[in-house]
Amino acid sequence: MTRQENALMLLRSCYGYDSFRGQQWDIIDHTLDGGDSIVLMPTGGGKSLCYQIPGLMSEDGFAIVISPLLALMNDQIDALQQNGVPALALNSEKSESENRQTVELLMQGKVKLLYISPEKLLSEIDRWSSTITERITLFAVDEAHCISQWGHDFRPEYTQLGVLKQRYPNIPVMALTATADRITRDDIAQQLHIPDARLFISSFDRPNISLNVVQGSTGRQKFRHIVQFINLHRDESGIIYCLRRKDTEKMAAELTRLGIKAEPFHAAMSVKEKQRIQRDFINDDLKIVCATIAFGMGIDKSNVRFVIHSNMPRNIESYYQEIGRAGRDGMPADALLFYNYGDMVTLQHFAQQSGQVQVNMDKLRRMQEFAESGVCRRRILLNYFNERFDHDCHNCDVCDNPPDRFDGTTFAQMALSAIKRTDEQASMYTVTDILRGWRKAEIIEKGYDRLKTFGVGRDLTVAEWNAYLLQMLQLGLFDVAYNENNHLKITDFGNEVLYGQRKIELNKFERRDFTSKRQPRHETIPDTPDLTLDTPEPGDNAKQFDKVLFDKLRDLRKALAQASHVPPYVIFSDKSLTAMATEKPTTQAEFGILYGVGEVKCQKYWRPFTAAIRDYLNHH
Ligand code: ADP
Ligand code: ZN
Repeated sequence: MTRQENALMLLRSCYGYDSFRGQQWDIIDHTLDGGDSIVLMPTGGGKSLCYQIPGLMSEDGFAIVISPLLALMNDQIDALQQNGVPALALNSEKSESENRQTVELLMQGKVKLLYISPEKLLSEIDRWSSTITERITLFAVDEAHCISQWGHDFRPEYTQLGVLKQRYPNIPVMALTATADRITRDDIAQQLHIPDARLFISSFDRPNISLNVVQGSTGRQKFRHIVQFINLHRDESGIIYCLRRKDTEKMAAELTRLGIKAEPFHAAMSVKEKQRIQRDFINDDLKIVCATIAFGMGIDKSNVRFVIHSNMPRNIESYYQEIGRAGRDGMPADALLFYNYGDMVTLQHFAQQSGQVQVNMDKLRRMQEFAESGVCRRRILLNYFNERFDHDCHNCDVCDNPPDRFDGTTFAQMALSAIKRTDEQASMYTVTDILRGWRKAEIIEKGYDRLKTFGVGRDLTVAEWNAYLLQMLQLGLFDVAYNENNHLKITDFGNEVLYGQRKIELNKFERRDFTSKRQPRHETIPDTPDLTLDTPEPGDNAKQFDKVLFDKLRDLRKALAQASHVPPYVIFSDKSLTAMATEKPTTQAEFGILYGVGEVKCQKYWRPFTAAIRDYLNHH
């Protein structure tokens, strides 16, 4: 048997997968040849297999996995143990005797993967006998960007890891990260002393995440939108990111009042409370978390089905990292971003006050361009990360509803004229109120109700005016004087449009309707090629995805998870449950060939799952 066949057999028997993804095999092959490597892959890309398989393939050796977060280690170990892989961790949380026992097992060659923190490794390795060190087949440095001061998550302990290559030049080093920029990458190579490491860069696309942006929606309207969206995702896990602490609390409270259980999460909460929320979320006891950006780091939960940004993030890097927490299992997931003028004002303010005004303003502008784009959003994202992506993705709102452009000159003239008549002393909100003819105190006080333009735009809704004014701002018809109460100032171009010398086009505002978007998913068989070994026969009606069965199996998964004290997604991923609810296996043999069902899991779980399926089929 060749090395590759051997690896494929392991992949099937341990993990229940049928083929390697992308560059996984090349990376493993290179490592088995003793080569160093730097692996750049997006979240959910499948990094862990790259170091786990080499660990599993060595006869009595083991791979060392260096990881910064205890939570991540525990999660991975739970998952590996479910698959019957001898994986252990050495860390300060464990008792002295537990750690001693682990070292004993290493001596005997009974461990395949050892998870350890950098500081623990450096203090332990000198104490190990050569029997142990000779068994080390690989140093895998996970979250390797932590080594770089330029990265967003610098950890001083990581900089010590350079000594590994110096002391053990023959043991391959694999550095893995989802941070792609060149500075970080070069820093990793230099600090780990692996100048000749081969670079493996995967596409950063996450094609299963549907990208959606809603413009101009604020307040109650935005909230109704969010509720409508969540109702379409009933029983699914999701994160709602908010800009401020108080927004997370308000959002959670209002959702809870509507019977949608949600909890806030932010930096000012106690460590204990934060840990509880993370745990409840991971265990599917809490489906929705309303959080500031701090939430999600160190969570490997694979069945997060949606991420909502209630406010626009500061830059594309943050946005991409946050939406990346959805759909790690490769199943369809949704990213929904709300973008309005008020957020822009707040974010500009933050950027102005930050240490690096220029950089942060530029990054914010790129984020704004993304939100306002009339071209495929994935194109913009991947181009931002310098990845060539020259086709439409067909999984974003722009691709779904290409903007309908129309001659917006008259609307622009209404707005510009209103701005002019206030002597450029009005903010975007006031301009909207004038156009809509709202007789509120402030307007009357200033005499704006007597302007010729008062109420000329009452045929359009507030949301429409918000969206169009944003587009006009983007087109450069006026500027916002941030240092002058955000009053609007007409540009030269704006004057040309106002006086009829130039025309402009606007993208037609359309209220997004989620019902049409999500429905088809539940009626079609997921077309992932690696779902099962045998492809369904055409016209075979039995092999239709059954949502009711899926929900039943999800409940069963939850009960089994509770009984063995592991997160539900560690038992089976949503993708495996989807395969079960599609193939509907009723025997051990049928069950054993499904996606994500390795030998150990088949033994452990075929009875309860096939029993539930049989029971369901008998009653339908
Ligand atoms: P990362 O660490 O890069 O974020 P993971 O290693 O957690 O990603 O992998 C993401 C998901 O994809 C996991 O559920 C994993 O089991 C699955 N996966 C990885 N490689 C394969 C493969 N070759 N075939 C099928 N599923 C895979
Ligand atoms: Zn697209």
